[in-house]
Amino acid sequence: MNFADNVPLAPLTTLGVGGPARFFAEAHTENDVREAVEFARRRELPLFVLGGGTNLLVADAGFDGIVLHIAIKGIDESDAGGKRLFQAGAGEDWDGFVNRAVEKNCAGIECLSGIPGTLGATPVQNVGAYGQEVAETITEVYALDLESGEVNEFSNEACGFAYRTSVFNTLARGRFIILGVRFALEKNGAPKIEYRDLKNYFATHAGQPSLAEVRKAVREIRHSKAMLIVEGDPDSRSAGSFFKNPVVSPAKFAEVHATAERRGLQVPSFPGLDGQVKVPAAWLVEHSGFAKGTTRGRVGISRRHALAIVNRGGATAAEVVALKNEIQSAVLSQFGIDLQPEPVFLGF
Ligand SMILES: Cc1cc2nc3c(=O)[nH]c(=O)nc-3n(C[C@H](O)[C@H](O)[C@H](O)COP(=O)(O)OP(=O)(O)OC[C@H]3O[C@@H](n4cnc5c(N)ncnc54)[C@H](O)[C@@H]3O)c2cc1C
Repeated sequence: MNFADNVPLAPLTTLGVGGPARFFAEAHTENDVREAVEFARRRELPLFVLGGGTNLLVADAGFDGIVLHIAIKGIDESDAGGKRLFQAGAGEDWDGFVNRAVEKNCAGIECLSGIPGTLGATPVQNVGAYGQEVAETITEVYALDLESGEVNEFSNEACGFAYRTSVFNTLARGRFIILGVRFALEKNGAPKIEYRDLKNYFATHAGQPSLAEVRKAVREIRHSKAMLIVEGDPDSRSAGSFFKNPVVSPAKFAEVHATAERRGLQVPSFPGLDGQVKVPAAWLVEHSGFAKGTTRGRVGISRRHALAIVNRGGATAAEVVALKNEIQSAVLSQFGIDLQPEPVFLGF
């Protein structure tokens, strides 16, 4: 296995900012992962697991440790309990995997078309979009436990999935390296068309759209919002949504609602779990003075989505953080909500 030193990380991320990794290696097998873990241990250096770098902000000083890129490939299919099971390597491209499932007419992840990154990262923040989450179809996650050196099998329940979280980015953050994931998909199942944008898209469609049509629709809608990575599209040079949608108590929501009403605004909301209320972060950002297309030097907000902070060319991580801080302060002072970033910060 090759351990390269001083490898620039910016080109390995979609945001394209940040400094180098002291060491960088690529793991194609479980043994490679173990070798990298050993390498890190011998040198007493921290290890960071990199997938597609699509949910990542790297500090300008880089990372003084080992960045291990997971490139474990392979997909096995089988049938059980009337479902189609797909067991896939963590390094598989997520959207390629969705495409394969849709081509085989298997339902359950079609709304997650066009999300960039690796398959192995999807359980980490319970990737979701357009009314679907991976938590709905993941049956097991296989991960190397850095404490015991064993490969653990996590059932869906053991993953502790919730909105944009799992045990992998909360209680056990940094402890497990995901090697593979198993999904159970519905053979010849119906697509999920619950999200407003999708319903509108198919409003005049005769009969039930196919999984392939839903995949195409999701990718088109994402493209219109620059939430699809397209070479040369300056608004897609981002880490996707930079803030999570805040989930607040009904009492807190009543306060936000009253604040908005005093300004003649109606704040949108969605029901969250356990009676909580989910407020669209994009709405809060836009109504706190950050319209789409807002620019601060070399960084700004996407012209097509208020939640994406974009690198307009040659930006630094410090500039991204400054804009993030400015947005957080404005939303806090205007609506009393402390927005939480969605991307992972490395080297800060
Ligand atoms: C344009 C755009 C649109 C996006 N849209 C969405 C969306 O609709 N919904 C959504 O949920 N997300 C979205 N994202 C965010 C991102 O695509 C997902 O979070 C994705 O799953 C990250 O995958 P990755 O391989 O790039 O992970 P990385 O960015 O490389 O890593 C993210 C985190 O996961 C950890 N990680 C990665 N692989 C492993 C592994 N094998 N084992 C353990 N930990 C691991 C990393 O250590 C890091 O903490 C979007 C991003 C972009 C740029």
